Amino acid sequence: MTKYQSPIGMRDLLSEDFKYFNKIEKVCREIAGFYGFQRIEPPILEQSLLFEKGTGQGTEIVQKQMFSLRTKGGDCLTLRPEYTPSIIRAYFEHGMESLPKPVKLWYFGPCFRHEKPQSGRYRQFYQFGFEFLGSESWIIDAQTIQLSYNILKALEFKNLIIKVNSIGDSQCCPYYKKVLMSYLRSYRNSICADCVKRLKLNPLRILDCKNEKCQEIIRGGAPQILDHLCKDCNDHFKKVLESLDTLKIPYTLDPYLVRGLDYYTRTVFEISTEKEGEGGQGTLVGGGRYDNLAKILGGKEVPACGCASGVGRIANLLKEKSKGDSKTTSKVFLAQVGELAKKKSLKLFEDFRKQKIKVVETLHKDSLSLQLKLANKAGVKYVLIMGQKEALEEKIIIRDMKSGKQKTVALARVIKEIKRKTGK
Ligand code: AMP
Repeated sequence: MTKYQSPIGMRDLLSEDFKYFNKIEKVCREIAGFYGFQRIEPPILEQSLLFEKGTGQGTEIVQKQMFSLRTKGGDCLTLRPEYTPSIIRAYFEHGMESLPKPVKLWYFGPCFRHEKPQSGRYRQFYQFGFEFLGSESWIIDAQTIQLSYNILKALEFKNLIIKVNSIGDSQCCPYYKKVLMSYLRSYRNSICADCVKRLKLNPLRILDCKNEKCQEIIRGGAPQILDHLCKDCNDHFKKVLESLDTLKIPYTLDPYLVRGLDYYTRTVFEISTEKEGEGGQGTLVGGGRYDNLAKILGGKEVPACGCASGVGRIANLLKEKSKGDSKTTSKVFLAQVGELAKKKSLKLFEDFRKQKIKVVETLHKDSLSLQLKLANKAGVKYVLIMGQKEALEEKIIIRDMKSGKQKTVALARVIKEIKRKTGK
């Protein structure tokens, strides 16, 4: 033990975590390949202004959670709290405006937010996300929801709940904000202190305040944006919902869903599992349209839609689901006794690797009974045993762990025999 520990709110990812992280990344990679997304990994540090402007001054992230530093050269940089502003920056920096639209990019990597340490919330956490850039069409809103849903389905989540809403655009949203503000003003003394500030800064933020009393006031009859959408936003949203119907993707309308970032326009959505809030897990994937972000960052308008998800949160749920299922995926265990058998097993293990057959080995162990115990614990189907006699005769024993039956085969034939038995 040294006196050093990982920083508060940050943790080591160990092999148990990678079991799930790798699975999630594999599903993302497959979905990305199918839908034609290209991977992108921007630098972890960006100019602070990118997030201050992009993520938005009105957000918790910018107000309280950024890890920022000044370089020796005097630049103000921030560890990315989310990917989307970096992606818009990269879109312009690499001339992606000239590519056929929509440009489709996906990512999987670490983000940093200086949050209060709490269950399921870290200061370094991982996100994956998918972004469609350069299309106004409602099709990409529907596809964003569809692919988010497909990822969770591929990870075998059941009873998924998709909440959708439209928060309008610069035509209709400002008017809605006024209507909302006049409703909330009469509750000024009942809403929380943060929401009193939000009344001035951005009343939409009040809609997703976690305070129970504020939620009661909202859900008790606050005006709904869906009643105030302009014709274009209304038509757009109608088509998104119709495509979800066509795709038979189940959803519920949540007229108070706004999401925590300033840049969203029109469609917003969140997907959670039925047992929402269980262990503080909540939303699995969230996202929406952000037509104004490129302009906010000083570029030309780039209508866009995307989603982001917390990898750790999904990994936790996968881990919960697979509790008690700690058996290895390998079907074969290689046990050996004596020096000659060790040497021959070393070579045999390599031969199995070349044939892409996973074998568990304990070449550093000497006791056969200990090796058999380990094989039992690993839950393999077959154990290969090479003792001194077998090593001298170029043979090996194959033991069926379930029936306890065993037979001796020529060493040269063992791979073929295992392939036959395991259907490889
Ligand atoms: P957001 O960008 O805030 O919409 O977050 C997208 C997803 O990232 C959330 O649904 C969470 O699963 C995950 N996430 C956000 N912040 C954290 C955090 N501090 N620790 C772990 N996961 C997080």
